[in-house]
Amino acid sequence: MEFDVVVIGGGLAGLSCAIRLAEQGKRCGVVSAGQGALFFSSGSLDLLSRLPDGTPVTAPLEALGELARQAPHHPYSILGADTVAALARESQALLARCGIPLFGRGAQNHYRITPLGTRRATWLSPEDIPVTELGQTLPWEKVLVAGIEGFLDFEPHLVAGSLATEQGIEADAAYVHLPALDPLRNNPSEFRAVNIARVLDIAKNTQALAEELNRLAGDAQCIILPACIGLDGPGPLEQLRAAVGRPVRLLPTLPPSLLGLRIFQALRQRFCRLGGVFMPGDRVLKAEFDGRRIAGVYTRSHTDIMLRAQQVVLAGGSFFSNGLMADRDRIYEPVFGADVWGHADRGEWGRAGFFEPQPYLQFGVKTDHRLRALLNNEPVENLYAVGAVLGGYDPLQQGCGAGVSLISALHAAQRIALSLKETA
Ligand SMILES: Cc1cc2nc3c(=O)[nH]c(=O)nc-3n(C[C@H](O)[C@H](O)[C@H](O)COP(=O)(O)OP(=O)(O)OC[C@H]3O[C@@H](n4cnc5c(N)ncnc54)[C@H](O)[C@@H]3O)c2cc1C
Repeated sequence: MEFDVVVIGGGLAGLSCAIRLAEQGKRCGVVSAGQGALFFSSGSLDLLSRLPDGTPVTAPLEALGELARQAPHHPYSILGADTVAALARESQALLARCGIPLFGRGAQNHYRITPLGTRRATWLSPEDIPVTELGQTLPWEKVLVAGIEGFLDFEPHLVAGSLATEQGIEADAAYVHLPALDPLRNNPSEFRAVNIARVLDIAKNTQALAEELNRLAGDAQCIILPACIGLDGPGPLEQLRAAVGRPVRLLPTLPPSLLGLRIFQALRQRFCRLGGVFMPGDRVLKAEFDGRRIAGVYTRSHTDIMLRAQQVVLAGGSFFSNGLMADRDRIYEPVFGADVWGHADRGEWGRAGFFEPQPYLQFGVKTDHRLRALLNNEPVENLYAVGAVLGGYDPLQQGCGAGVSLISALHAAQRIALSLKETA
């Protein structure tokens, strides 16, 4: 099989890169072993919420100079402030082309309400979740937070308590009881957000939910629900809003995350519609080198047929997705053995305090200024590393996970399109 570009990993980074290349007519294949971080995410996309020294960031692009001073190996610092600003805009445009409705003002952060009812700064949020501008509170005086009886991945009393304290609004908590969910409730391992949505998205069940909510909501101006409705599109939530006659907002639940899943589905759909080849459930195991170039890769399902490519993108994610691995005394990138940032001393990998920034989160592949992966300190000519597999940043402490994935992916796509043009 022959491609212009093979992308290893079908998460946010791999799919964004592949979409941008497919939009320019390049023949792309994406090999994706399993579910990426989107399936577990809030659905909100972070650009930069905090500097390494802990300073909160309100306008990420204005903070890039200070970030470069504090974190010179951060992917944003490697790419430079102008490139990051241009690619942040391009990322928003790409997500819009994929039909993903997001709230966000340019490169200003806003607050999203978390599953605990607290607030967290972020860049872009699904339009269905409750958000506020920084320094402002929710626009309602009274809300109902409605959980689903027996669903343990969302605690409405906790959310309502935090909303009352942090937002200064009246927040009631209640549980809806829906007999249509009883078959799921009998098996706790199936009583999860995505399975609940499959039931609630059926029109007669959406109507039953609306009747329950109307009974419980009293004079609440807004109803907040766990994100368990609208798996395949906005229709069921629109039906529900019309039937309860007031805004309904969704909060992310514990994984699987319906809000993240919807982003994944929209990205994959756009890639496939552009003619891209998506290979789910397969894993790239090794590569064949031709000098300092990759000639192609072999996968678990194609052990003897090489996937040939002029350019290769490594978007395998971090430890969470097995894009990076660790054994007793080393951190390594398993497909190419690329150079990685990491401490040789295992004692330095983690800190004892649960809430302290963890050094291992900054481990990842080293690159040159074009994001080509380094092997023995030299760039591999046609291998780009993008997204969570990159080192030099902490997506959790710095609140920059999705931003790094999108921006590094679009940068690699730009470089690859240029080099394919030169060799055409
Ligand atoms: C649990 C969790 C929650 C997060 N929540 C948020 C959030 O709410 N907001 C935010 O901004 N950031 C969040 N992040 C940060 C996150 O890393 C980025 O937002 C982003 O989604 C990462 O995308 P990625 O494509 O780089 O990696 P991933 O999403 O990890 O995707 C990597 C993909 O590559 C595949 N893969 C790995 N190795 C191979 C191989 N050899 N062959 C083929 N496929 C392979 C994996 O199976 C996976 O599908 C979260 C991270 C985690 C771990």
